[in-house]
Parts: sequence; C-alpha cells; structure tokens
Amino acid sequence: MGTFKHFYHRDYQERTDLVSEFAQLSKEQQAQLTLDYQQKNDHLIENYLTDYALPEGVAVNLVVNGDEKVVPMVTEEPSVIAAASNGARLLSRDNGIEAKVLGHNLMGQIVVKTDNVNLLTGFVNTHFDKMIEVANQAHPSILKYDGGAKEVRVRQLDETYCSIDLFVNVGEAMGANMMNTMLEALADFLTDKIEGTILMSILSNYGEDSLVQVQGAVSVAKLSTAGIDGQTVAKQIVAASHIAQIDPYRAATHNKGIMNGIDAVVMAMGNDWRAVEAGVHSFASQNGQYRGLSDWQIDGNKLVGKLTIPLSLGFIGGATKVFDKVKVNQQIAKITSKKELSEVVAAIGLAQNLAALKALVSEGIQKGHMGLQLNSLAITAGATEDEVSQVVQQLKEQHQADLASAEKILKSIRN
Ligand code: NDP
Repeated sequence: MGTFKHFYHRDYQERTDLVSEFAQLSKEQQAQLTLDYQQKNDHLIENYLTDYALPEGVAVNLVVNGDEKVVPMVTEEPSVIAAASNGARLLSRDNGIEAKVLGHNLMGQIVVKTDNVNLLTGFVNTHFDKMIEVANQAHPSILKYDGGAKEVRVRQLDETYCSIDLFVNVGEAMGANMMNTMLEALADFLTDKIEGTILMSILSNYGEDSLVQVQGAVSVAKLSTAGIDGQTVAKQIVAASHIAQIDPYRAATHNKGIMNGIDAVVMAMGNDWRAVEAGVHSFASQNGQYRGLSDWQIDGNKLVGKLTIPLSLGFIGGATKVFDKVKVNQQIAKITSKKELSEVVAAIGLAQNLAALKALVSEGIQKGHMGLQLNSLAITAGATEDEVSQVVQQLKEQHQADLASAEKILKSIRN
C-alpha cells in the first residue's frame, strides 16, 4: 500500500516506474506505455499512464430522414460494423429510417428526507417561478443557448424520502455538469426553507424526457436467405422480438446487440457511453420487467421495426472538444447538432438489431460472426500483418476454428 501513497503527486516518469516495478513489466512493456503518452490526457484523467487505442471504422448504407450517413464507429468487436451496414442497407428504402427526438430535457434530482410529501409539493408549487430562476441563475448562459430550467416536480420515493425533480433543456450539451451546478444552487436555496434534510443533488441518467424514436421498414422479400424465403424470415424476426419482450434472459442479449452499434457511435462522437448505457437499460425495465427495446411487426409486404430509447448526448462539451477526432467524426457523419446525433445513434441501434435478428433466425449468429472473428483469432495467435490472411484462409478450410488451430497453422506457415 505504501508504494502508492500520494501516487497522484508523482510525476509521469515516477508513476510509470512505480507501476512497472509493481507489475514487473519488461522494458518493452514499459516502453509500450510511454510510447502512447499524450501530454494533454495527463490533465484529463487521474494517475494517467498511457493512451489506449481502439479501432474505428465506418458503417455505410444508412439513410436517416432521407439523408445518407456514413457513421464512424469505435469498437473492438469484429462483425459489428458489417452488421450495422447490412441492417442499414435493408432499412434504406424510401427515406430510410425515420427518426424523431421526442424530448429535449435532462432530469436531475434533489433527494429530501421528509415524510410530508404534501408540504413539500405545496412549497414547490408556490415557489415554482423562484426555483426556476435560481436554477437558471446558477448557469445563466444556458438561456443564451435557448435552453434553461423548464419544470420542477415532487415525487414520493417511500414514507421517508421524496425527490424534487428538475427538468432542464441543456441545449447542445449533454448537460451533466450544468445540471449538477443548477441542482446544487437550488439545494442551497431550499436548505433553510423546506422541512426535511437534503441528502444529495445529482442528475438522473434515467432519461425519460430525452427519448428518441426510430422506425424503419424492409420489404419482406428482401429478407430471404439461402434456403429460407423472406416471409418466413420476417415471421421469425417478429417471433424473436416477442421473445425479447417476455424473457429477460433473451432481452439482455437482444439489447446488447442494439448497444453494440449505439456504444460504438457514442464513443466515436466523444460522448459518455456509461450514461447512455445506464439510461437505456433502466428504460428497458420501466414496466418492472427488463424487456427488449425494439419491436418488429409485419405490415402488408413489409417488416417494420421500432425502437425508442433515452439518449443524453452532447454535440458540444464533455470530451467532444478534447479529442480532435470527434470533430472529424462529426464531419464524416455530417452531424451538426445534438438532434442529428441522437437520430443517427438511435438509427444505428435499429439497423444493428435487424441484422442480428435476421442472422439469428436464419443461418445463426456464428456463421457471419465467426468468419470475421477469424481475423482476431489469427492476430491473437501472433500472426503478423502478412500472415493474417494465410492463417484465416486455412482456418476457413478446416472445421476447427479455435486458438490452438490458429497457432498450429501459424507454426506450419513459419516452418
Ligand atoms: P461541459 O460542462 O463540458 O459542457 C457544457 C458547456 O458547454 C456548457 O456549460 C456551456 O458552457 C457550453 N456550451 C457552448 N455552447 C452550448 C450550447 N449551444 N448549449 C449548451 N451548452 C453550450 O459538459 P456537460 O455539462 O455537457 O457534461 C458532460 C460531461 O459530464 C461528460 O463528460 C460526462 O461524462 C460528465 N458527467 C456525467 C455524469 C453522469 O452522466 N451521471 C455525472 C457527472 C459528469 P458556457 O456556459 O461556459 O458557455
């Protein structure tokens, strides 16, 4: 324990030396840390050691509200981008995916220990205008950005606790810092005026007032695969979407597939994917049971999919200005506002979901997935750039596609 006392006071060299000694890193391993050092990131997070890069690619074929989008995605998982592009192509008919932002507010809460909900509600109703003013005064520039505090409500949590919920239009930002500043100012204002004690003031990631809705359709005929006609595939996708509604075990994986796409775009756009994950999964449990987020139904000769999720994203603020690549990625995706960002993120989620369900109910997930996983298997086995394609080719030719086989093939290539 003593080795790391006041670790955060150490300079960069001392920090890497200490960690290297503790973990018995080789000189080469230590060099890997220092090679990727970025001075500005030393100020971004605490106890900084190195940068950790993830691959970025682009999903293509996506059409959202009539506009073609090329969407940067950051992910380490093979097949995610291929599936997103595939699902996007299927949903590209007419104007493509229709996307709508339903809510523009972030919610934050001041938790109060009181057993008298009526008294607290009466106070909030009487002082509503003043509370809105106090919140806005804590971050007055938000009014300049056409945002600001919009609503205050009281919710009883149990016999002992209530929550004062503040709803703020946070403009083009994700708004977490802005909201927390407003809440703390409001809590200071309330301290001597309300009966009860304030336990904490913090934004909520639940996101019921920042919902985004997307809808897309594909001709049933386009869903046919080798050996299965489109109508059958469509019916099975509808059944799969139903199973995600009735079985939380399946819903978890159904939603993980959606988040494969969503997280990858959220990361590429310099946004807080933990906040998005927290919001989406709590929303999936809104009726007391964890459910699939999407719904697929047959309508005439079309399969129609809908997805509604909360998205608290920022076009500015947070890490969007810290990493130069975010600006490039916004430009690649032709995204110029938080609204467009939310629409594209949700649309990728729907496309990702369609591709996964189609694969699941037809050839199975492994066929396409494993084909792409072979590359990572070859790399894990130690194949160099020149050797990867040879290893993959030989893995494809044999039934066994595991690490031991990849290593064996690599050895034979090198001999
Ligand atoms: P920032 O504080 O970085 O950015 C918001 C700021 O951008 C505003 O305060 C405003 O500053 C400025 N701004 C410029 N133009 C606009 C505009 N058009 N609309 C709105 N603001 C504008 O970040 P956020 O408040 O967005 O918070 C996001 C960060 O908070 C993320 O990094 C997230 O990880 C983190 N976070 C998340 C939490 C959670 O999810 N639970 C909790 C705490 C933090 P100005 O008024 O000075 O111009």
